[in-house]
Amino acid sequence: MSRHAIVVGGGIGGLAAAVALRRIGWQAVVLEKAGELREIGAGMSQAPNAMRALDELGVGEQARAKGIPTYSAGNLRLPDGRYLQRARAGDPTPLVAFHRADLHGVLLEAVPAGWVRTGAEVTGLRQDGPAVTVAWNGGEATVDLVIGADGIRSTVRRLLWPDAPPPRFLGRTAWLGVANVGGLPGSITMGPGGYFLIHPLSRGRAYWAYVTTADRPEVRYEEEKAEVLRRIGGWHDPVPELIASTPDEAVIHIDIHDLDPLPTYVRGRVALLGDAAHAMSPDRGQGAGQSIEDAVVLAAALADEPDAEAALRRYDAARRRRTQATARGARADGHRTTSKAAHRALVTMIRLMPAPLWRKGITADGNATWRWQPPRLPSPATDS
Ligand code: FAD
Repeated sequence: MSRHAIVVGGGIGGLAAAVALRRIGWQAVVLEKAGELREIGAGMSQAPNAMRALDELGVGEQARAKGIPTYSAGNLRLPDGRYLQRARAGDPTPLVAFHRADLHGVLLEAVPAGWVRTGAEVTGLRQDGPAVTVAWNGGEATVDLVIGADGIRSTVRRLLWPDAPPPRFLGRTAWLGVANVGGLPGSITMGPGGYFLIHPLSRGRAYWAYVTTADRPEVRYEEEKAEVLRRIGGWHDPVPELIASTPDEAVIHIDIHDLDPLPTYVRGRVALLGDAAHAMSPDRGQGAGQSIEDAVVLAAALADEPDAEAALRRYDAARRRRTQATARGARADGHRTTSKAAHRALVTMIRLMPAPLWRKGITADGNATWRWQPPRLPSPATDS
């Protein structure tokens, strides 16, 4: 007998959850409040742990076809262009960089069309014995399981975890964009008080992000592109070129928040997943990757354990420590790499580090987070 779930939120986490549920023979509906299902934002990278999770979902190959292998931390530079560390030809490129819309599209293609409902904002949840009733603007349905994948400002979390603190502003802000500039290697330029990241993207594009400190959130500028150029337009090539060639309206400015650790990701038959459970600072490039891992682990537990509540408890036990440690590490990394006071010491430390040691630290072997292996899911279901 098939079992039914509702996934709240159609971002990367929610779609990964839907693909995972399909893999184990569940039926699901994805409720997305936006009128159109699309990933807003610029680029991102996925590390080997997340790529393995995509493989387990059966979409790894499709994803790789849309991404570009990269190794941005292999090229560490100073604002005047000097290299602190420099990748050599043939060095490993363990990350895969994506335009967000491309990765989102790969997951969406693996979700049966009838499963997605847009313009559906979830407003209420009621648990009654072995059933959960979800209410949204336009309907109500009772299912066996609900996955709250509705992002950092999750309604599901607010409804069932009313005492959880709101997202915390981390004292950092970021400008992001995608420019039609091809052939650039990945790199990170470390300035005093902020860093500039470049990932090459498919189809002759490049993703850039400038992350820096901010005293308070929600400070916005009439011309965001001019503001970021004012701040770092004097940095080495191609930093100014990338920013200048991004269309004005495509320059995104966001403030960085994360979540304090929740004591559990599960209440009865409702589970939080992705940013709703553990939104983290972007500095380890792991937020979406952890949501894909969540989806695989959740589906593996459901496939293995007929009692859905017991399966969710297993999911919670498997995911909380790892995701919260990753979030803690990302928060600390972001603080270190944008701290003006620590800049000189950090630069000296990187400069003094022997290149082989530096390389080992940023390859799959040297990075503990990247070594994660997904649980195996049963063979793909043939129905839809
Ligand atoms: P979201 O993407 O926020 O999706 C939530 C969805 O739920 C949205 O579509 C929203 O409209 C919907 N929703 C909300 N409320 C409701 C409701 N009540 N009813 C119905 N729908 C609702 N991660 C990486 O892995 N690699 C990176 O390189 C990387 N870089 C980053 C760079 C920056 C600057 C930032 C800020 C983040 C970065 N991340 C990265 C993190 C990543 O973006 C997030 O972790 C990821 O997008 C979270 O996905 P999600 O599906 O959990 O949430």
